[in-house]
Amino acid sequence: MALAYTSALLKLSGEALAGDRGVGLDPQVLDSLADELKQVHALGVRLSLVVGGGNIIRGATASREGLDRVSADYMGMLATVINSLALQGVLEQRGVETRVMTAIRMESIAEPYIRRRAMRHLEKGRLVIFAAGTSNPFFSTDTAGVLRALEVEAQVVYMEIGRASCRERV
Ligand code: UDP
Repeated sequence: MALAYTSALLKLSGEALAGDRGVGLDPQVLDSLADELKQVHALGVRLSLVVGGGNIIRGATASREGLDRVSADYMGMLATVINSLALQGVLEQRGVETRVMTAIRMESIAEPYIRRRAMRHLEKGRLVIFAAGTSNPFFSTDTAGVLRALEVEAQVVYMEIGRASCRERV
């Protein structure tokens, strides 16, 4: 069967990892997501992911509750790293070689995002998770998803937003 797309970026909202809890991480949801991602990856699709952080903290909400907006946005970006590491864990448990690359440097946890290195990982068949959004406050992980998709020349971006989803050709 010919694939409609051979390279894709999937943007998952943080809430997608929280399941019915709405906040935090639901291990059962992580497991079923990892099973599905493994199947797609096994088809030979060059697959990359961007994960949000809304299941932990959203900058705009936290700033309305009194936190400094820029700090709150950095906290949101750190939340995406937590989610990315959780996804990496369940994917690697299933034998899917996965790299997390962060837009904000934190080398003891994950590789810094360097576009050419990301391309190389994808060429080698690794699944790449882009964490820490764009590294800029006042942006969202939806922006990061489209940005990374363009950078790594993905043919399509899938956005999973809560329980809805949409698809956009790049
Ligand atoms: N964020 C940011 N810059 C970015 C990406 C994310 O400041 O480039 C912050 C922002 O505070 C955002 C939070 O990280 O609310 C979590 O990301 P997002 O709200 O996009 O997550 P999602 O709604 O997809 O779970």
